[in-house]
Amino acid sequence: MVVPIKGFIENSLIEWEGKIVSIVFLPTCNFRCPYCHAPHLVQSPNDLESIPADAVIDKMRQNRGWVDGVVVTGGEPTSHKHLDGFLTSLKDTGVVVRLDTNGTNPHILKDLIAKKLLDCVAMDIKAPLQQRKYELVSGVPCNIDDIQESIRIIMESGIEYEFRTTVCPTQLDGDDIEEIARTIQGAWRYILQAFRPNHCLDTGMLKIEPYPAEMLRDFAARAGKYVDYCCVRGEEGKVLQRNW
Ligand code: SF4
Repeated sequence: MVVPIKGFIENSLIEWEGKIVSIVFLPTCNFRCPYCHAPHLVQSPNDLESIPADAVIDKMRQNRGWVDGVVVTGGEPTSHKHLDGFLTSLKDTGVVVRLDTNGTNPHILKDLIAKKLLDCVAMDIKAPLQQRKYELVSGVPCNIDDIQESIRIIMESGIEYEFRTTVCPTQLDGDDIEEIARTIQGAWRYILQAFRPNHCLDTGMLKIEPYPAEMLRDFAARAGKYVDYCCVRGEEGKVLQRNW
């Protein structure tokens, strides 16, 4: 009845804008993004020691009052059968909860939102919603309908959310980013993340030169025509108009 926890950061000031949060890492993922920075969580999680869920819950209780929330990330957290029980325990400690997901399990996402276990969702959109492109970036066969459905669920949920895309020069260009932004037209927040050639799942990625910052800003400006707010990760400075 417990989820395996493979990493716990007690506090972070940068993970969830405006909040002090803890971060919980859950193992395994159904994607194999070549740039993934958590290959140990994705490919060989059994080599990592597990942290008892009770210890994490106790720590969240102890820190109540100065830690605002918790981010549950991975890997892909929705691949765990008992995720809802774990999120319920986290919510019971009085903190707000954000889930990071690749959007491949819309029915689980919908259920967690309906049970009011999530205060925020951050979803990766790997590529424009075309089969070939999505599979190139995610590294596996994908169900594009599931990705589309997760986007719809999140945008209609009424809770805080963020879409994000890691932009690697060998995978995506400005036209792709604009196409993704068109797909999420009207979304509150879309963040571009620079590809970083370190600790990649596919070591062939280590040779790839990232886009210059100026080019990513240009992509963000193009995408910004379709969404309320778009910027490059690390350059979030604009005051959001939303009431969250
Ligand atoms: S979705 Fe991709 S980047 Fe995220 S954990 Fe899975 S393999 Fe890694």
